[in-house]
Amino acid sequence: MDLFEYQARDLFEAKGVPVLGGAVASTPEEARSAAQRLGGKVVVKAQVKIGGRGKAGGVKLAENADDAFEKAKAILGMDIKGHVVRKVMIAEAAPIESEYYLAILLDRAARSFLVMASVAGGMDIEEVAHKTPEKLARVHIDVNEGLSKEKAVEIIKQGAFPADVMEKVADVLVLLWKTFQESDATLVEVNPLVKTSDGRIIALDGKVTLDDNSAFRHPDHEALIDHAATNPLEALAKEKDLNYVKLEGEVGVIGNGAGLVMSTLDVVAYAGEKYGVKPANFLDIGGGASAQVMADGLSIILGDPAVRSVFVNVFGGITACDAVANGIIQALEMLGEKATKPLVVRLDGNNVLEGRRILNEAKHPLVEQVDTMDGAAARAAELAAKR
Ligand code: GDP
Ligand code: MN
Repeated sequence: MDLFEYQARDLFEAKGVPVLGGAVASTPEEARSAAQRLGGKVVVKAQVKIGGRGKAGGVKLAENADDAFEKAKAILGMDIKGHVVRKVMIAEAAPIESEYYLAILLDRAARSFLVMASVAGGMDIEEVAHKTPEKLARVHIDVNEGLSKEKAVEIIKQGAFPADVMEKVADVLVLLWKTFQESDATLVEVNPLVKTSDGRIIALDGKVTLDDNSAFRHPDHEALIDHAATNPLEALAKEKDLNYVKLEGEVGVIGNGAGLVMSTLDVVAYAGEKYGVKPANFLDIGGGASAQVMADGLSIILGDPAVRSVFVNVFGGITACDAVANGIIQALEMLGEKATKPLVVRLDGNNVLEGRRILNEAKHPLVEQVDTMDGAAARAAELAAKR
């Protein structure tokens, strides 16, 4: 889960990373009172989970509380690269002298953690890496050793930081490592880390990604979820322990096993080209395709108004095809009138003949069987195009 900047700011504050006072606001009125509380000049910043807000006009300096009201009014509702701004952060303004860059991330390819530090902050770090690589330190951290102050100083030196800020920046880097480890993050990035004209070092913008796999040991992370942005069907699927991802097309896809579902997406996309339709989702019902699991899966897919046909692609394994066929029929009975869209079913694998016989004999008006994956995908695409 990616955090909003204001959530990252709160987390940093809790871990002792130096930040400026800040508050989140959903209306211009709230922005004004937050600015009043902070006092003086403030910065009004769009809260969207995407970079480059500054350039897009989503970061504005306000002279006072009334000005913060106006700036918030202008930024709230703005569309930044497809992300609608629903909240702004009001932060104390900082007199910036220099902008630096610090990041810690999980480097999967290296099976390690990577620290990046650069004196050239405030801009795109890829650009720094490309144009002035001598200003960017990239150092892997042994998770068993952790990041000591000595190591942090070494990295900061390598990142070409001036001597007068070296100590303070190294301290911040150690605190960021603590934040990274204690919160089970996969990314902690500060851009810019600034030196103010009075010599303070402050994390001005933070980007944090938390590892969802560690949610079980961080009950407090639950509160950070952005429910407004969660697709309701994805939330429902999660509740039912189903692996569901909403896509932009018209053909619903259900399969057992992530590999099979992924190849099904490819086949549907290919077959759909002729009709101008695409896969509407990814839904893996996993190994045990019981009637209940099938009903849960189907009701999620049929709940998506964009879906016009469904392709059920199952390879019988431990759960044999006859059990899956019964599951489909029972699921349709359970759904009753909620099942309104045609289903193209392709069964193969363990006990396939019995599975096909069960579906044939049931003669459900919505169900059609096709024996091959390509043929079934083509039929599902054709049905989606017709409706
Ligand atoms: P991003 O564009 O989404 O990464 O947003 P940032 O929070 O990094 O802000 C972009 C830029 O706005 C920074 O690099 C700063 O130059 C500037 N900025 C942000 N906050 C302040 C502030 O408090 N004072 C001043 N003077 N500039 C700021
Ligand atoms: Mn930034």
